[in-house]
Amino acid sequence: MSDHSENRPNGPIDDAGDPTDDADRQRRAEFILMMRARGIRNRRVLSALERVPRQVFVEAGYRDIAYADRALPISCGQTISQPFIVAYMTDQLDVRETDTVLEIGTGTGYQTAVLALLADHVYSIDRYRTLVENAERRLAALGIANVTVTLGDGYYGLPDEAPFDRIMVTAASPEVPSTLEEQLAVGGVMVIPVGPEGGVQTLYRIERSEDGLSRTRLIDVRFVPLVPGTARQL
Ligand code: SAH
Repeated sequence: MSDHSENRPNGPIDDAGDPTDDADRQRRAEFILMMRARGIRNRRVLSALERVPRQVFVEAGYRDIAYADRALPISCGQTISQPFIVAYMTDQLDVRETDTVLEIGTGTGYQTAVLALLADHVYSIDRYRTLVENAERRLAALGIANVTVTLGDGYYGLPDEAPFDRIMVTAASPEVPSTLEEQLAVGGVMVIPVGPEGGVQTLYRIERSEDGLSRTRLIDVRFVPLVPGTARQL
């Protein structure tokens, strides 16, 4: 692992590395006010959200509504989560700056970028090569270097890098994969949507203490499914 200390506390995204315009910054500022109004109070989380330009991660035709409170379509038939859900899940994960984080479901890399500003290192996995490559390119363009994006099946996690202090899953599965629970460190937290494809899914916060695992129900959500295996198509 390389030294990422130069990325904090102010982080890699400075004005030079921010390819967005005043209109986008204005939308981001309004978005932060909205997130505060909806109960997100953690300053580190709000600051990370304010610094990541979401418009860089959405498809060109959706830039004007990048911060609208809805999920948007991305490549490979997937979606980027609605911004409130990204904020809420990030808040619930409670990432510390020394944490190693595992994210399942890189998608555009937007959530990855937010986590990278909060953590020491983020490992992120997606099953589509196109998504992995695009996310790597966007993160590099923003100067975010404390991230490793891997093509693979997130059901297996990353045993070689485990245990993880924090695990975030951004695709829904009918059950919590036991491999991911096994890769959670003592004192670790996982946030994961659980439920059937297209049906009622519930976000859970899972904590591992010395005594074992405990689960807390959070809110109902709607995610694309966690699909086993690496995608055969690109
Ligand atoms: N967090 C993303 C959105 C994720 S959408 C963002 O901010 O843009 C869910 C993602 O999970 C999709 O990209 C999908 O390809 C991925 N996914 C689904 N099943 C997977 C699996 N078994 N392993 C890895 N990634 C998976």
